Order: sequence, then C-alpha cells, then structure tokens
Amino acid sequence: MLNYCRRVRRGILATALLLAAPSLLFAWGNWGHQRINRAAVLALPAAMRTFFYNHVDFMVTEAVIPDSRKYVINDKAEFPRHFIDLEDYGTGPISELPKGSTEAYAKYDAAFLDKSGRLPWYVQDLLVKLTTAMKNQRKDEILFVAADLGHYLGDAHQPLHTSSNHDGQLTGQKGVHSFYESQLPELFGKNYNFKLAEPKLIADPAAEIWRIVAQSHAAADTLLAIEKKLAGETPAGQLYEMAGEKPRKNVFNSSYHTQAYSSAYHKALNNMIERQIRGAAQDAANFWYTAWVNAGKPDLTKLDTEYTTKSNEKNLKEELKLLEKGKLVDFSSFPEFPQAQ
Ligand SMILES: [Zn+2]
Repeated sequence: MLNYCRRVRRGILATALLLAAPSLLFAWGNWGHQRINRAAVLALPAAMRTFFYNHVDFMVTEAVIPDSRKYVINDKAEFPRHFIDLEDYGTGPISELPKGSTEAYAKYDAAFLDKSGRLPWYVQDLLVKLTTAMKNQRKDEILFVAADLGHYLGDAHQPLHTSSNHDGQLTGQKGVHSFYESQLPELFGKNYNFKLAEPKLIADPAAEIWRIVAQSHAAADTLLAIEKKLAGETPAGQLYEMAGEKPRKNVFNSSYHTQAYSSAYHKALNNMIERQIRGAAQDAANFWYTAWVNAGKPDLTKLDTEYTTKSNEKNLKEELKLLEKGKLVDFSSFPEFPQAQ
C-alpha cells in the first residue's frame, strides 16, 4: 500500500511538473494542425482523395503526434524537426544557406542542427520517404509519413518557428507564441475559410520549403511588431484575464489574454493567422500530390477494400458540400484555452 501511494504521489508530481512547464510550443495547437490536415485531404484530386478520406480520422489524429513525441515521450531527436532559428545561421541572405539536406548535413554538425533546428531539411527528407512509400504502395507508411509531413509544413508556416525570438522572450513579449498560435485560432478560427485550390506539382521542393520559411520569417517580425505596438497602447490591466488576484492560466501555464485584447490583436493582424493556416494546408496538399505524381500516380484506392470506400462515400459528399461554403465539419480538438471557467 505504501509503495502504491508513493507511486501515485510520484505520478502526480510528474504530471504537475509537466503542467507547470513554461510555454510548451506546439505551433497551431491541436485545433490548427488537425484542421490543416483535414482541409488538405479534402483539397486532393479525386484519384487521391478517396484513399486519404477513407483514413481522414487517422490523418487528423496523427497531425499532432509529432508534438506528442516531444512532450509525451520526450524523444530528443524530435525537437529540432519543428523549427529553424534562422538567426543562428548567420546574417546573410537565406539563399546562401544549404538548400538541400545533403549539403546541410555535410556543412553543420549534428549538435548545431539539433540546437538551431532542422525543419526545412527534414521536410525534404519526408517528401523523399513519402514518394518511396507511394511507389511501394505501402499503405501504413503513406498515411503516417503524409500526416507527419502535414504537421511540419504547418510548423514551417508558424512564423515564430523560424526565429530564435520564438516566444517574444527577447523583446519583452513572452507568451506571444501560444497567444498567436492557439488562443486566437481557438477563438476566431470558426470563421476561417478552408476551401483550397487544386494542388499543384512542386517542381523544386527545396526551393518551395525555403520560400515558405522566408515568408514565415518576415511574418514573425510583423506579428511581433504589431503586438508590441498594441500592448503599448493598451492599459496594463486590460491585457490579461484575471482569476482572483492572479492572471488566469491554462494547464500549460500560459496566461489568457482578455477577449477584448485578443479581438484587437486578431483584427490588427489583418487575417494573417488565417492566411498562414490556409497556406500550410495548401502546401500539405501540394507536397502529398507531388509525391504521388513523382511515384507514377499509383492507384491508391486499391489499397482499401470496396467496403471501406463505400462506407465513407456519403460522409465525403457531405463534407465537400460544406466546404463549398469554406467550412469543415465540426470535430473536437483538445482546447489549450478552454472558454468555460
Ligand atoms: Zn510541431
């Protein structure tokens, strides 16, 4: 009994420590990542979409598993795949950095890449793996790698994942990361439009991931500058929600910004979050489509039974109809900033 109690107490302590860890940086939280993968599945051409839609629940759930590998099982190799601190790579233009993985792994040692981030190169590695899985018609690998690739492309579109000032900690804006990527989309994302364009073949995937990273990096400066200005114009007492005497915190120890401040910041960003999330979903669809074309357009539908495809037909039709209005079906995602007290 004593041992059991100790174990339980240790368990509670470990959970408390995890919950108290400062700002776990998720990028788009569950809400965003799961919708990025779902919108990307629906944007695919019919020849690919039937297969991916048969497994849309997996694609949506797996969209956040790369973050679970970091925080739940503490896989050290996982962390650097989610970001690149461009400032660590020098002050020259991005075009001077190694474009492809081979050059990057030859130029930098592993410890440096682990500290400063591997995101643009890891995306390229996964595209190669996805193309191979498609060629070999390995159903499980196709789904697993495609869903993971959707996650990292999501991260690449989160501006703060391209900068060493990733939580505004260098500019007196600590907490801006989860405010921008989780609280705001959870509050306002229901109005975002998730209807995307037909996916395009990417002729030069290395150039494309670097285009994304460069665009994100420029947006990081913008979102930080806008927040700094707005915070300066807002009376201190109106920035954070209070729980009694102290700021209200979520389970990850992040402060809730007030509804009024959240609204003002979201408006001042001028649709930036919606643009970045839509860009991520479009690129996920584009990268998956590119892997499929480069694999010789294999018939993926035959990887499932007719029964599986038939069972999903009606739901797919309904989702496509809803998407005409820009909407995704309402599904639940773990909220980082639950609204109810
Ligand atoms: Zn991530």
